[in-house]
Parts: sequence; C-alpha cells; structure tokens
Amino acid sequence: MIASGVGYIQPHALDELWFHTGTACNLDCPFCLEGSRPGDNRLQRITLGDVRPLMDAAVGLNVRQFSFTGGEPFVVKDMVAILEYAASLRPCLVLTNGTAPVVRRLTQIRRLAGSAHPIAFRVSFDFADEARHDAGRGAGNFRLALQGLRALHKAGFSVSIARQMQPGRDEAEVDQEFRQVLAAEGLPADLRIIAFPDFGTPGEERTVPRITEDCMTRYQTETTRRAFMCGFSKMVVKKGGQMRIYACTLVDDDVRYDQGDSLEKALSQRVLLEHHRCYSCFKYGSSCSELG
Ligand code: SF4
Repeated sequence: MIASGVGYIQPHALDELWFHTGTACNLDCPFCLEGSRPGDNRLQRITLGDVRPLMDAAVGLNVRQFSFTGGEPFVVKDMVAILEYAASLRPCLVLTNGTAPVVRRLTQIRRLAGSAHPIAFRVSFDFADEARHDAGRGAGNFRLALQGLRALHKAGFSVSIARQMQPGRDEAEVDQEFRQVLAAEGLPADLRIIAFPDFGTPGEERTVPRITEDCMTRYQTETTRRAFMCGFSKMVVKKGGQMRIYACTLVDDDVRYDQGDSLEKALSQRVLLEHHRCYSCFKYGSSCSELG
C-alpha cells in the first residue's frame, strides 16, 4: 500500500480577510469555541492602528470582504472606527452575540449604515428555545439577541443568524423552529441561517479521522477544495502585542497555523489539515464565510 501524506489546501486567493477582535466578551459561555469570556486576553483587543496597514495590504491583494469575529466585537473600544475604515474600502461582515454591547452602541452602529460599502451582521443563537439558549448564555440573552438583531435589521443592515447543529435532529426542522421565532419578531422568515457543529474549546484534543492527501482527492473535488476557508481567506489575530496571520478562523489555538506577519507570504503557504477542526470542514463543509 502506498502511504499518503497529510491532506492540505493550497490557498488560491485572498477573497476574505478576517480579524479576530480579541477573546474578551460580555458573555461567559462554557462551550465557546474561542474560549471567550469577560476580561479574557488569550487574543488581545485590536485597535484601528493595528488593523489599518493590514486592510490596506489586503486591498492590494484584491480582497473582496473584511470580516470580524470575537469575543464580542462591540466590547472593543475602536470597533466602530474600525468598521468605518473597513467599510470605506470593502463590504464587511460582523459576527456578534447581538446582546448588551450592541444594544448599548446602537446609535454609533446605525451611523455605519451610510458607509460606502455594506456591513452585514450575523447574530449567534444556540437554540430556538429561549430557556435552552439562556441556560448556556445567561438569563435574558435570548431576548437581548433578538432585540439586537431586530434593531440591526431595522437600521437597514443585512442580517443572518448562526446556530448550533443538533446531531440526531432533522436540520430543516431545526431551521423551521428558528424561522417561526424570527417571523414572530417581525424579522424576515427567509433570513440566512448558518449551522455549525460543535468545534470544542481552544486547545481541546479530539480524536478524529486523519485527513490524507488521498482523502482530499478521493472524497473532495477541485470545487470543494477551493471552498475550504483556508483556500481563500486568512485570519488576523493579536497575540503578545503582535499582529499575526493564521490560516483560518478555526485554528488560532494552534501555533502550527501561525503563518507570520505578511499576507503575501501567508498566501504562498500550504495549509496542512492536521487540526481536529479541519475534519468538520472535510466532513460537513463547515465554513464561517458567507462568500459564495
Ligand atoms: S479548520 Fe478548515 S479552513 Fe481551517 S485550516 Fe482546517 S480545513 Fe482549513
């Protein structure tokens, strides 16, 4: 039998550049894939000064979109200024929990609706059931997230929601439960819903099948390989006061995926699919991106 090496993705473009706004969050959810909580600084909060040179460099590499995830982006003091600058260059997507930090800053956020490029928001929900959602996220946060989502939609921003996959349940049925909640809140019932598997917490070791080069040709096609996030995007994080480029949004807990401080050099590096979360991309086609 011929041994097959570790499967990999060769990046083909920088369509999307993600910025991690830091692991500080107003919520303290035990299942957070980023391990975010109040005051956490595994990944540090970004400033406009930190990100501006990288945004400018990304524009030179024909980036199509800037996207932001946390932590909760709106606990970051500079977030509105960062979005103001980012949206002067390219369309933006912001992943948020939609709760108190968003509601508190709505007046500032609404002003961004007039940006040169559109800003879209994706609000996280775990379950369509309020009590089950609040059991993980804290009492009152289901209602607050709906309030934030409604306000963002009303202000003219495009909105979507993220939810957890529920193994063993029919995914269309789960979506339908959410659509009923959205419709009751006066939100579009056809709003985009993105479902994510359980990615585990940072640094967690999980045993998953090994992805080999053979798997990547036997079970994937050129088209599906190009759809892996690490094929067309990068993520910028701030660690130890330095801005670093990682292969994607899911592997910032593993230094093997630190690709340096130059976007251009990072794009030339092959990404080995050795992180346990890579298996979710392989098996489910998991992706944080909304770029089609
Ligand atoms: S987690 Fe997915 S997108 Fe990230 S490096 Fe692994 S395969 Fe690529």
